[in-house]
Amino acid sequence: MKIGIPKEIKAHENRVAITPTGVALLRQSNHEVLIESGAGIGADITDEEYRNAGAMIMEKAEDVWSADLIMKVKEPQKSEYKYFREGLMIFTYFHLANEPELAEEMVKSGVTAIAYETMVGPKDDLPMLMPMSVIAGRISVQIASFYLQSPQQGKGKLIGGVPGVRNGKVVIIGGGVAGQNALQIARGLGAHVTILDVKPEVLQQIEDTHGTDVITLMSNEVNIANAIKDADIVVGAVLIPGSKAPKLVTEEMVKSMEPGSVIVDIAVDQGGIFETEDRITTHDDPIYIKHGVIHYAVPNMPGAVPKTATTALTNVTVPHAIEIANLGIVNAAEKSNMIYTGINTYGGYITNKGVAEALNMEY
Ligand code: NAD
Repeated sequence: MKIGIPKEIKAHENRVAITPTGVALLRQSNHEVLIESGAGIGADITDEEYRNAGAMIMEKAEDVWSADLIMKVKEPQKSEYKYFREGLMIFTYFHLANEPELAEEMVKSGVTAIAYETMVGPKDDLPMLMPMSVIAGRISVQIASFYLQSPQQGKGKLIGGVPGVRNGKVVIIGGGVAGQNALQIARGLGAHVTILDVKPEVLQQIEDTHGTDVITLMSNEVNIANAIKDADIVVGAVLIPGSKAPKLVTEEMVKSMEPGSVIVDIAVDQGGIFETEDRITTHDDPIYIKHGVIHYAVPNMPGAVPKTATTALTNVTVPHAIEIANLGIVNAAEKSNMIYTGINTYGGYITNKGVAEALNMEY
């Protein structure tokens, strides 16, 4: 099968859908890999490296889009709709529930959309989203510690303290993948950490891993208010699958924090958990200050580390791409529940119930 990897054209997207190792693995299974020239530049991968791994470098995007299976990072952009045709398979993050026009185009043209974000793993989890939550969690505390410094308008505090000077306090709301990775970095930096979740089993697991050095609290209005009033850093890492993030931190709670403290809301891509979040921010202009508190609300945090994010993404996507290319989509979906649950459009229909309901389209 021919597998095409176009250059990502969405603004500020520096990731690419494959690494040279991924190319080599596809080549081992006897598939042709067509890569648009310059596709890897944002992730620091040269055409030469791809060529050495066995890819063919194509000068024009349309030549890449002539492949049978397209691998991408972000959803196809409007200027790419012209490449849609019956039987073309596209394997990428789609988030179609928020993309009605794209969904219409995919259905109209008979494209098969295999969406990373709806692929359900053996533990009823979403393994293709996990690496990005790991990265966002790890970046959150790193970036917040940077903004705590005076030149960045922070309160001028070193989060880990020094001998003879108290360390700072990090509060993490949500103890899932992103929250536990934020916790790991906060501990590594020497911070005092409090983490809140609504699931007792999550709190138990955190205590089993970290002992009683980390304070675990049931997430409710009272505990959140008490925990954050003397926090230097607050990280939002809540997810209620399929729903908008709940506004767990009120404006009054933010006002109770010391000026120069830092909020990083990882859940901003689901609407955010802070009442004071009135806008999303970008990597070019990542913060704003409200009630003296620095707010960081970037919805694509892994975009800051495209080299790491590209490799982490390829690690989880390539095995499925090989399965689809080896077996064809119908046999691959019969064999693999992850591929089956990833198919969002097929043969002119929406084939994912949640997506169809969100878009009010035929299923
Ligand atoms: P997850 O499902 O692993 O964890 C979410 C946790 O939130 C769960 O443990 C759940 O029990 C907990 N939770 C639910 N309601 C809560 C409440 N009221 N109070 C406290 N905790 C509560 O999810 P995840 O993979 O860690 O993702 C977290 C968020 O990060 C999601 O919104 C995801 O979309 C987002 N995300 C953002 C970026 C970014 O760049 N900004 C990148 C990756 C993920």
